[in-house]
Amino acid sequence: MSQQFAVIGHPIEHSRSPELHHQFAKAAGIDLNYQKRLAALDGFAASVQDFFAQGGRGLNVTVPFKEQAFEMCEILTERARAAGAVNTLWQQNGQLHGDNTDGQGLVMALESLGWTLTKARILILGAGGATRGVILPLTQAGAAQIVIANRTVARAQQLVSDIQPFVSSIALQAIGLDALAGEYDLVINATSASLSGEALSLPAKLQFGQAYEMAYGKESSFLQQAKARGVAYSDGFSMLVGQAIEAFYVWHGVRLNLRDFL
Ligand code: NDP
Repeated sequence: MSQQFAVIGHPIEHSRSPELHHQFAKAAGIDLNYQKRLAALDGFAASVQDFFAQGGRGLNVTVPFKEQAFEMCEILTERARAAGAVNTLWQQNGQLHGDNTDGQGLVMALESLGWTLTKARILILGAGGATRGVILPLTQAGAAQIVIANRTVARAQQLVSDIQPFVSSIALQAIGLDALAGEYDLVINATSASLSGEALSLPAKLQFGQAYEMAYGKESSFLQQAKARGVAYSDGFSMLVGQAIEAFYVWHGVRLNLRDFL
């Protein structure tokens, strides 16, 4: 029988993970079956246990269960500990292991665009789960400075104090969205304003050369403003593919090239 994998979430219908992992498996010559798994909002832990009890090999975890997955794991990678969230699960010697591949997915996406991260000055808009997941990998990829700007500044300050111990080599800074100014190599939009269609205003006194929007699908006001300024820009589809490629590597030990799947 094929090895069994799945992505678990609520809702789950929109997920593109099965399609991606089947493409990767074909390219790597691996026989696997990857399904979508809907868990009840109060039934995540039971669904995970049931999946592995039936011989399942690996699970990806999506909204809203990444923090619960983190709590369930007996063994965590450093990047999962820094993120406080897990999107990739597997069992080894009867223990549940957890990793977070979102941040490395973003790093791969930025590198595939040819955007250098070495010594980069980076501004991240938003201080939610996605931002939490990408700071350690961005630092490991060479970022020199990361400023986190959030509508609720206290949330950005909390995030900085939680993550600073993992990234002692660089200084993180938290500011309010109303204090956007200065010069950056790269601005990353990790707010969910894009999903709700709300506008995010980038003042002229904020200067940057590259703009990455984590959301994908409909063009956000963030991307429209980047385009109008004539800077390099991208939406978040490459990050989605990147996190899947990294999860595939964690499970199968096969490293695929992101560009082959965009
Ligand atoms: P969270 O819900 O954890 O955080 C949302 C963030 O957006 C908060 O910082 C919130 O600020 C801010 N925000 C929401 N609405 C507004 C607004 N109108 N104006 C300004 N700020 C706002 O979401 P996630 O961190 O999980 O996800 C963020 C984005 O990243 C989403 O678009 C998601 O789809 C995308 N994403 C993409 C991935 C990919 O693979 N491409 C992977 C993961 C996420 P406040 O604290 O003040 O409420």
